[in-house]
Amino acid sequence: MRIYISADIEGVAGVVTPAQCQAGHAEYEKARILMTKEVNAVVEGLLEGGASEIVVNDSHGQMTNLLPELLHPAADIILGKPKPINMACGLEAGYDLFCMIGHHSRAGAGGVLSHTTNGFAFHQVRINGMPCGEPAIYGAYAAELGVPVGMISGDDVTYAENRSLFPQAEFAVVKQAFGQRAARALSVLRARDLLRVTATRAVKAAGEFAPQPPIGPFRAEFVANSAVLADQFAILPPAIRVDAMTVAFDCATMADVVNWMTALSAMSFAVR
Ligand SMILES: [Zn+2]
Repeated sequence: MRIYISADIEGVAGVVTPAQCQAGHAEYEKARILMTKEVNAVVEGLLEGGASEIVVNDSHGQMTNLLPELLHPAADIILGKPKPINMACGLEAGYDLFCMIGHHSRAGAGGVLSHTTNGFAFHQVRINGMPCGEPAIYGAYAAELGVPVGMISGDDVTYAENRSLFPQAEFAVVKQAFGQRAARALSVLRARDLLRVTATRAVKAAGEFAPQPPIGPFRAEFVANSAVLADQFAILPPAIRVDAMTVAFDCATMADVVNWMTALSAMSFAVR
């Protein structure tokens, strides 16, 4: 049983502020330990359920948040960026489950630290008209490869946003959002217990369902947070300028959607 974990930090129990998610802040050093230990709890649960191969992709910021020294020895780790397909780097047909741990709600939604890929760049990301967060986008990419979403963890808004997209997936809700930067969270130990048993359930259910591959083509629309960002994105020759704030790309595959989103996110740094 081969399991892939995409690990983010905003959806981790005990994390509620941007400073906890940004290298250079004292609080970040504590939050990355919380993140690593949540992943470890998931790895323990996956092993308990019969996983034989586990790879964890560090999927936040500079993508060097997980502490290799603290990571469960059964898991391999993917660190660093840029990397192909970003939050799903290295995912391929043949994995049995795609798990998104410490994930968060989409840009424009409520929920703790909600955003889609880059909170500075994107006001909203839509695929064929539907506002999407990272789980929706990367989950659809995984489905394209034939890999089902097995588990998602994060806050209650993340759960509400994704449960109907991935009805077969197991969810672990580790905090209840009171807003963008406030939540009631489970204690870290109870959050880890919940993650462990949820991961075991996900592995035991693997193989009971096949994902429905999404049917292209896909129009990916990116509503920028400012017109100057949209000006920057519109420089790319395939970009379609929808309006002052929005560019679109017509994509044959979800892989292309992910790649355009990653490219625009990187370009946005030139406008700061
Ligand atoms: Zn993140």
